[in-house]
Amino acid sequence: YFITFEGGEGAGKSTQAQLLKEKLQKDNIDVLLTREPGGTTGAEAIRKLLLFGNCDFSLKAEILAHFTARCDHVDQVIKPALQQGKIVLCDRFIDSTLAYQGYGLGKENPDILEFIQKLSNLIDLIPNLTLIFDAPYETLIERCLKRQTKIDAYEQLGYDFHYRVLNGFQLIAKNNKNRCKVIKAHKLLHEVTREVYNLVTHKLSE
Ligand code: C5P
Repeated sequence: YFITFEGGEGAGKSTQAQLLKEKLQKDNIDVLLTREPGGTTGAEAIRKLLLFGNCDFSLKAEILAHFTARCDHVDQVIKPALQQGKIVLCDRFIDSTLAYQGYGLGKENPDILEFIQKLSNLIDLIPNLTLIFDAPYETLIERCLKRQTKIDAYEQLGYDFHYRVLNGFQLIAKNNKNRCKVIKAHKLLHEVTREVYNLVTHKLSE
């Protein structure tokens, strides 16, 4: 099973992915937690380039860089782990590219959405379950303000950008109802943890 964690910054998806991993391990389930952009030496190098490289790539070049990292990650880590029977939890995947580059930076430009769709088809790996962490916009901004490292991205790209990203995730959830479950991430941490665990164990029992 391949399970992805998606959402804007501050929604708590990385914390929940880690907590789920620990809970599944207690159940004696063989689980791998990994993340994007990253997950391999090469993909982590691309992550650094994308986040701190000041590359000023064109939008399509940026998307291709995300997909270069993703291809390496899928070929070298995700697919082999799935073949070994592991449950793979991935912190961000293709939906993040759609939300950030397609809806956020690309402002829903159909050419860009199609470009991402074509590359997704080439990657040929669809998650069995995608958890989309959603919370009121104000809650997310407030959480990010408390995390000094993250606010830089907000200041750089502007609040409108992040609003489009969050809307993008909501649209993705609406358009992929079978695969995606929206998690209301502003609830108490342990309530969210329990909801995530229940959704995942239900999926694993199918
Ligand atoms: O998941 P995490 O918060 O570690 O992601 C790191 C950063 O990468 C985020 O701040 C996000 O803005 C950025 N990102 C992006 N495009 C993606 C995935 C992540 O801009 N497709």
